[in-house]
Amino acid sequence: RAKMEGRGTWRFFEPAMDASLQRRRAIELDLREAMAKDEFSLFYQPLYDLHLDRICGFEALLRWHHPKRGLVPPDQFIPIAEEIGLIGPLGEWVLDRACEQAVTWPSEMKLAVNVSAVQFRDPNFIDVVVNALAASKLSPRRIELEITESVFLANSSETLATLHKLKAQGVRIALDDFGTGYSSLSYLRSFPFDKLKIDKSFVRDATATHGSKSIVRAVISLGRSLGMTTIAEGIETVEQLDHMRAEGCNEAQGFLFSHPVPVTEIAAKILELRNGFKPAAVKQAMAG
Ligand code: C2E
Ligand code: MG
Ligand code: MG
Ligand code: MG
Repeated sequence: RAKMEGRGTWRFFEPAMDASLQRRRAIELDLREAMAKDEFSLFYQPLYDLHLDRICGFEALLRWHHPKRGLVPPDQFIPIAEEIGLIGPLGEWVLDRACEQAVTWPSEMKLAVNVSAVQFRDPNFIDVVVNALAASKLSPRRIELEITESVFLANSSETLATLHKLKAQGVRIALDDFGTGYSSLSYLRSFPFDKLKIDKSFVRDATATHGSKSIVRAVISLGRSLGMTTIAEGIETVEQLDHMRAEGCNEAQGFLFSHPVPVTEIAAKILELRNGFKPAAVKQAMAG
């Protein structure tokens, strides 16, 4: 129930709406200053190669340390950053920092970076990627840009052109949260993705429900026949890990291996996971 007061001024009387709108406005204002105030950081979550049985890279995950609200999850501020035109500079910051970081890792470690649909559609996006690679001297082959099916909601011929330009730069493209968008299969026909990330909702249910198990099997087989790597995200249990391995999934990622960690813990993670992964129960048995 809003009432127009004079020119372009809306006054809202619904108290609940007022509270959530106010919260949103406050986050919006803080977000505009967060970069200058250095409140962002990147956490990194290991990617694990199931065939080589070792860590093969990290996904960079953005964190906002709000002075009053504490840690604000990306799902809560990235959509706002997109709306207020902040995702461009923020996404550039992410790419620059992540590339600078990854160039210090052993060369077989890949870097996965999330790219939002709005950021992807920015005409400057390719330059942003090229500049981040040039400034850091990171080999393009080591970077994987994670996009979601939502990039195809807009102009798909422009989307395809951008994807081809990125590929021409030598970077890899992964389709994130695969299976949660709509009519996914047509994208696979029109563009050769390098990797499919099987969404954690399917991974979670794959050991429990027949439907999810069948979907996981079909996605892995689809990936294999189209020459795309498959990765299962959201692996939390040994059972899920064994299942994905048995299904022939190439890589895995999830809390079972490691939560996302700050940069200071990257070296330790590499040491811990480079000679295979031992679930906690096994580690305890060996220690004691
Ligand atoms: P995503 O790219 O699908 O990232 C995976 C999310 O799942 C991360 O949440 C990660 O912490 C979480 N996760 C990892 N392993 C497990 C697990 O075993 N179980 C469960 N339940 N969750 C797990 P996070 O960090 O909160 O990020 C959420 C989303 O925000 C990301 O989903 C991505 O879409 C977006 N995001 C994060 N960082 C960036 C960024 O730098 N730029 C853009 N544009 N988006 C980002
Ligand atoms: Mg991702
Ligand atoms: Mg995902
Ligand atoms: Mg996601």
